[in-house]
Amino acid sequence: MTSTTTSTTTSTTDAPARSFLLGLIGTDLSLSRTPPMHEAEGLAQGHPTVYRRIDVLTDRLKERTLEQLLSSALDLGFDGLNITHPFKREVVALLDEIDPVAARLGSVNTVAIRDGRTVGYNTDVTGYARGLSEQLPDVAKRSVVQVGAGGVGNAIAFALAEAGVEQLQIRDVDASRAAELAENLNTATGTSIATGGGTEGVEDAIAAADGVVNATPLGMLSHPGTSFDTSCLTPGHWVSDVVYMPVSTQLLQEARAVGCRTLDGTHMAVYQAVDAFGHFTGLAADAERMRATFQSLG
Ligand code: NAD
Repeated sequence: MTSTTTSTTTSTTDAPARSFLLGLIGTDLSLSRTPPMHEAEGLAQGHPTVYRRIDVLTDRLKERTLEQLLSSALDLGFDGLNITHPFKREVVALLDEIDPVAARLGSVNTVAIRDGRTVGYNTDVTGYARGLSEQLPDVAKRSVVQVGAGGVGNAIAFALAEAGVEQLQIRDVDASRAAELAENLNTATGTSIATGGGTEGVEDAIAAADGVVNATPLGMLSHPGTSFDTSCLTPGHWVSDVVYMPVSTQLLQEARAVGCRTLDGTHMAVYQAVDAFGHFTGLAADAERMRATFQSLG
C-alpha cells in the first residue's frame, strides 16, 4: 500500500497567535474574577489564553508544596501565576528576581515566567496606587487614616506611601497588627511616615485627616456596617473602600451623601489584573475592557 503525504504550506502570516497559559495558586478561589478577566483580555487581543485555578485545598493538590507547584508550572510552560492567600509571603524566597516594590513589602501576588526564570511583582500595591492616581488624581495626601491592617491593608499602606502620602495612621481592632505594619512600612521606606494603633479615637484622627481608607471587611454583605462612625466625615475628605461586593458600600454611600470624593474597591481589583496581564504577556491590557469583564461577573 502506498502512503501519500499531503503537503501543507503555512505562510508566516497564517502562523497561530501566541497563546498564554496562566494560573492562580492559593485557597478558596472559586469566586475569583481574575481568571475570566485574563482569559477575556488575552482572547480580545488575539491570544488564546487559559487561566487555571490551582487550589491547594483540592484533594489532588493538598500534598503538594508551593515549591513543587511553582516548579510544575515552569516545567509545563506557564507564562505566569498569580499568588494569593496563604502564599504571598512564602513565594518570595522561591523566585529568581523580585521587583523592588514587592521586595520592600515582602509579598508577591504576581509571578511572570520568562525563559525559565521567575520574576515576582506586587500588583495589589501598583493596582491600588494606579486606581487612586487615576480616579482621585489631585486629592490632598498630607495625612491619611487607614482602618484595617490585614492582608489587603499591607499592600494598601505601601501603595499609599508610593503615592506620596506624608503621614499615615494605621488603625485596627488588633492594635499590635497595625503597629507591626506601621513599623514594617517605616523600615522598608526608611521614613517615619506611619504610626499604628487601635481604633480608640479613630473618628478624631479621621476628622483631622485629608483622606481615609477602609481596609477591613466591614461593608461586605457578610459584614454589614462601617468600620468607623461616618459622622466625622466632611465634604473635604476623600474616602476609599477596598470592599467591592457590593460596589457601593454603606461607607461610600454615606461619604457621597456628605459630599466626599470616593474610590470604590473595584479599581484595585481591576488594576491588579491589568498590571499582572502586562507582566505575564508583555502586552498592555485594555483597562476598560478588563473592567467590563469584571463588572459582567458581578
Ligand atoms: P484580613 O482578614 O486579612 O484583614 C482585615 C483586617 O481588618 C484585620 O486586621 C482585622 O482585625 C481588621 N478589622 C476588622 N474589623 C475591624 C474594625 N471594625 N475596625 C478596625 N479593624 C478591623 O482581610 P483582607 O484580606 O485584608 O481583606 C479585607 C477586605 O478587602 C476583604 O473583606 C474584601 O472585601 C476586600 N478585598 C478587596 C480587594 C480588592 O481588590 N479591592 C481584594 C481582596 C479583598
